[in-house]
Amino acid sequence: MRVRSTIGIGAVAVVVAAVGTLSAIVQPPRAPGAITVFEGARLIVGDGSRPIEDSAFLVEHDRITRIAAKGGLQAPRGARRVDLSGKTVMPALVDAHVHLGYRKGLTFTAANYTRENLLDILDRFTYYGVAAILEAGTGRGELPFQVRADARSGARYLTAGRGFAMPNAGPGVPMRDAAYGVTTEAEAREKVRELAGKKPDLIKIWVDDRNETVEKLKPNLYRAIIDEAHTHGVRVMAHIATLEDAKDLLRAGVDGFAHAVRDRDVDDELLAMLRQRRDVFFVVTLWGERNAIYQGPPAWIDEPILRETLSAGEIKQLADAFLTAASPATLQRSLENAERLLRNVATLNAAGVKLGLGTDTGGVTGGGYFGLASHVELELLVKAGLTPAQAIVAATRNSADILGLDRLGTVAPGKSADFLVLDANPLDNIGNTRKISKVYMKGAEVDRAAMKTKWAGRAPRP
Ligand SMILES: [Zn+2]
Repeated sequence: MRVRSTIGIGAVAVVVAAVGTLSAIVQPPRAPGAITVFEGARLIVGDGSRPIEDSAFLVEHDRITRIAAKGGLQAPRGARRVDLSGKTVMPALVDAHVHLGYRKGLTFTAANYTRENLLDILDRFTYYGVAAILEAGTGRGELPFQVRADARSGARYLTAGRGFAMPNAGPGVPMRDAAYGVTTEAEAREKVRELAGKKPDLIKIWVDDRNETVEKLKPNLYRAIIDEAHTHGVRVMAHIATLEDAKDLLRAGVDGFAHAVRDRDVDDELLAMLRQRRDVFFVVTLWGERNAIYQGPPAWIDEPILRETLSAGEIKQLADAFLTAASPATLQRSLENAERLLRNVATLNAAGVKLGLGTDTGGVTGGGYFGLASHVELELLVKAGLTPAQAIVAATRNSADILGLDRLGTVAPGKSADFLVLDANPLDNIGNTRKISKVYMKGAEVDRAAMKTKWAGRAPRP
């Protein structure tokens, strides 16, 4: 096992094993013969089925091999037992829209895009029980592909590498130069071929004029990108804002969207198109609109879990943004926009469209609230009218499916043992996903205490 300089769970396991202070429930990952029975928890499978109120499930090495009602499972001799009575277990989350590397403390700059910062951010997702993330088109150079190949502990790092837009018209500053700027179909196809050679997990395109401040990616160019991507077996996810762009991208064969429609109400024509394409997904990304949606400081701003990974300055910046000094007219407009967005998500959900979880964390609107935001996104999905069970399916099974992660997304036989142990039931109150008792990834308990110490021990983040 490799030990790396930042404390990921792999390194922690080595330290823990070396000093021999194992409690009954801490085990080194992939120890030979390691079999554990987890008993007594309410088990939320993550597929929308009714929870198993008093469950038992077996984890062998890094895999879930059996689940049953308690007493319905013969544990092999020598299996460890972990009593989870009174707890709730749900699958680890998957966040299909984040931007790694630019945020560090209160700074936001391309100079932060280092291996060390990428790994630290992955640890932050791991801490909150996010088992995989997609870097949505703002990767820089070879580094994201190298880190993807090397980072074998904790959260999985998926990357779209560099996305596509018109020149200097893609993601917000300081991420803007990460995208390929293309102006001809031949150039678009050539860059897709270049990117496809690195095996991106998706391809990201920006189709947005940002309130008429930049040039929107032209339809002939996104058609060339989508066609070339599909030739290479890679799917395309589009950043959009408008209903008309969503429709034309569907005509062009796009695979999914990085946001919901925001300019107008979703209409019957769009829904009819989506009925013809049941595989199309929306990663709805409500966290970026949190200030307008909450219209004031949310209750979770005072939860202790924020202080476990964020400095006082970061929490203040997050809290202050909810206290806007905007004019009544501006406030009214932002409220109407937020209500339309939530209505559109509700409409897509009612139509049975596949919704996934994304946050834009690390980007311009997302801020540096890695992992925490993924949990708040669940609460925002419930504000949009999803039931807690539907929000959990979006955040687990659907997002894993969107990213092609067939070992993640549910607590079921054959899946990787990546799950959250919660102190309260999120089906009663979705905010309970933040009452995290333990996180397991790949069959091993994440040493959250060591991570917390690392972040607390550091000099105040700049
Ligand atoms: Zn984004």
